[in-house]
Amino acid sequence: MNERYSRQVLFPGIGKEGQEKISRKHVLIIGAGALGSGNAEILARAGVGKITIVDRDYVEASNLQRQQLYTEEDVAEKLPKAAAAEKRLKAINSDVEIRAIIGDATPEMLEELVSDVNVMIDATDNFETRMAMNDAAQKYNVPWIYGACVGSFGMSFSIIPGKTPCLNCLLRTIPLQGMTCDTGGIISPTVQMVISHQTAEALKMLVEDWEAVRTSFVSFDLWRNQYSSMKMSKAKFAGCLSCGEERTYPYLDRDNMTKTTVLCGRDTVQIRPAKAGEISLEQLSAQLCSLGYKVKGNPYLLSVEMGGERMVIFQDGRALIHGTKDLTHAKTIYQRIMG
Ligand SMILES: [Zn+2]
Repeated sequence: MNERYSRQVLFPGIGKEGQEKISRKHVLIIGAGALGSGNAEILARAGVGKITIVDRDYVEASNLQRQQLYTEEDVAEKLPKAAAAEKRLKAINSDVEIRAIIGDATPEMLEELVSDVNVMIDATDNFETRMAMNDAAQKYNVPWIYGACVGSFGMSFSIIPGKTPCLNCLLRTIPLQGMTCDTGGIISPTVQMVISHQTAEALKMLVEDWEAVRTSFVSFDLWRNQYSSMKMSKAKFAGCLSCGEERTYPYLDRDNMTKTTVLCGRDTVQIRPAKAGEISLEQLSAQLCSLGYKVKGNPYLLSVEMGGERMVIFQDGRALIHGTKDLTHAKTIYQRIMG
């Protein structure tokens, strides 16, 4: 084992054997926002063999306050977060195999990705994806680590299929749905604290120290100086549709995934086309320019503007319509531009 990981190898919980395990493992991170950036950076520095990271958004100025992988240059280039993260992670540790996916973590994609990963990390900003992750983890027997934060409040829980309650079980006792949107703002230390809890758990799982994995639900408020750790062993619900005996994995049901969504804490609507498939950004750009639209782009996306309407179109035909929360209005704009 090289010098690079010497401090981690010296740590008794990991050691030489643990480091070798870490270097052979594959971690899937869903989301490359604040939680995703930090998790990915720490795990890349720790020498995880392979990291797959999925994100549907691109880098904006308001991300820089807490999304540690990104720079002003990424903002200027409007790089998709997954692409910017890949570039940065490779610069941090070239030993790690990085797979970056620009797109929505649909149930279909999750099922495809999760089958060969060792640990999955929740770094999403929406409840729907989280619940789909929960079902995929149960179905393919993959441990994963829930994490969420708003303002100065954060929480985390480690889920091991067959052992701990799942996220769907927890919903019966903890109202987690409200913890998805950062409309009230957020401070970076909250994010870092959740990342610390998630990555510490991930390292335990990667070295297979299952005894050390936290079984309690941890939550804290850094501004109010409150810390709590709740025992969850009794929360496992036999009738749970995600992990119980009569499980149906309801959140992997594709019909449950909406095609049009208002993005978390922003005046932005995401529209996914009914049929997924690559579009030619070059062709679309030429077309829109001739119609008088102001178009700027990079190899991954087009940024389109006219008369106060602003949208970003990705290669998979997915679009983010800015400046609105009205789904019908967003659809009208989308149809006008995409034909
Ligand atoms: Zn359950």
